[in-house]
Amino acid sequence: SDHNLDYPVSPDDVDWNTHYPAFAGSRKPEFADVGCGFGGLLIALAPLYPNTLMLGLEIRVQVSQYVEDRIAALRATSSAQSPPQSSPTNSKPASTDIPGGYQNVSIVRANAMKFLPNYFSKHSLSALFFLFPDPHFKLRKHKARIISPTLLAEYAYVLRPGGIVYTITDVEDLAEWMKAHLSAFPLFESVDVETLRAEGKGLILDAVWNSTEEGKKVERKKGEKWLACFRRIELPREP
Ligand code: SAM
Repeated sequence: SDHNLDYPVSPDDVDWNTHYPAFAGSRKPEFADVGCGFGGLLIALAPLYPNTLMLGLEIRVQVSQYVEDRIAALRATSSAQSPPQSSPTNSKPASTDIPGGYQNVSIVRANAMKFLPNYFSKHSLSALFFLFPDPHFKLRKHKARIISPTLLAEYAYVLRPGGIVYTITDVEDLAEWMKAHLSAFPLFESVDVETLRAEGKGLILDAVWNSTEEGKKVERKKGEKWLACFRRIELPREP
């Protein structure tokens, strides 16, 4: 239940400074990992895109607390070991502006199916991740799926035109469900992996495939994975 959760009334009510103090409120999250679980994707992406703020949303209390502690520990150890950007041996002047050390990653405990627009303003995200979402196998539970016709309108709202929805699952039936719904929605179009790699998003695709805890579990079991990506387009497609 969501009753004991405090939700911000709107994205303007979120104090991003407490999430990303090193950025001093100068930026807002651009990547959102919905149902981030133990945080593997965000932890993998954070050092690759040090200037991009990332937020995980996770509904389970213990799991979101675990991720919060994990990020705090990573921040503490990386700042203790090396203040990399302020090091005099660092020859790249541009990097002095970038905090690094996992300062760009954070998490909220939230029911993303109900409260996504409370955190993200219109067109603010460039990437939205749905990685190994819970499958909700039974037909009467399909409305509990995180990709559904009603929720797609919200995802299109928070994503900027050109932004990408990344989905991956080991459940073939769910892969087909997500693909069918996203392809049918007028503000999304399917985009293949080669195109995204050509645009420089290969590191993101690799992290989506390899870096989450659920993905690693599937790998150990030698299970199959279905990856599908969709672009948020500017104007609705003709039906
Ligand atoms: N994405 C992670 C990964 O690949 O390792 C976790 C996958 S796990 C199978 C699905 C996660 O989604 C669980 O941690 C679950 O608690 C979370 N979840 C399910 N419904 C959610 C919701 N409405 N809002 C936020 N998180 C949710």
